[in-house]
Amino acid sequence: MRGFIMVSRLAKLTEYDLRRYDRQIRINGFGVEGQRKLKGATVLIAGAGGLGFPISVYLAAAGVGTIRIVDPDIVELDNLNRQLLHWDKDIGRKKVDSAREKLIQINPTINVEVYDEKITEENALSLVKDVDVVVDALDNYEARFALNKACVREKIPFFHGAVHGLMGQATTIVPGETACLKCIVPRPPKPEVFPVLGPVAGIIGAIQATETIKYLVGIGNLLKNKLLFYDGLYMEFTMIEVKRNSECPVCSRL
Ligand SMILES: [Zn+2]
Repeated sequence: MRGFIMVSRLAKLTEYDLRRYDRQIRINGFGVEGQRKLKGATVLIAGAGGLGFPISVYLAAAGVGTIRIVDPDIVELDNLNRQLLHWDKDIGRKKVDSAREKLIQINPTINVEVYDEKITEENALSLVKDVDVVVDALDNYEARFALNKACVREKIPFFHGAVHGLMGQATTIVPGETACLKCIVPRPPKPEVFPVLGPVAGIIGAIQATETIKYLVGIGNLLKNKLLFYDGLYMEFTMIEVKRNSECPVCSRL
């Protein structure tokens, strides 16, 4: 990985692992070592909703050793068009409990840690403690900014994603190297109950999961200083370059 050194914990693989992950181990540059890095990694997924579903399912299935999910919410009926980890029978349960139950069934060999907490400036630092990367599966900028600040401070890569209706966006933030979320979104939109189509969250979440796996394994090019937009209505992908703000209140001192 150019320009960013990650101290990976290389976990031992079992015969089961070698067989289970065979089709990704075969990817050029991935190999057994890439799988050992995934197994040794701890990933925080902030949100167990529409983005959290594809992100957590793909990371669990790919063999990320420890997945830490944070979400304060209870499953409600109007979540079910897009939050496919939660089913009718789960209405009224904590989202993190519903998510953990399914993820352990998808991959019984991984650890799933859950926190039913709202992410704030006060708890963000302790939540990101000991994680290798943080994935943004949130639905509000207040919590996103709290996590962005904690990630910049601890120099933890932060994989941003957001959706609205048939539109979505994603970028990969590497503190010290790229613009942070506050550089990219200086004035966030007002909180609202916004529309979302399930597969749009699926696409953006799958992009974030791909970026996370590439980073952990150390292959390919990331969405660094690039903001990818997806417009599902006209089926267009657009990429814009983003820059660090030298006066950013969060990252300018790095
Ligand atoms: Zn910044």
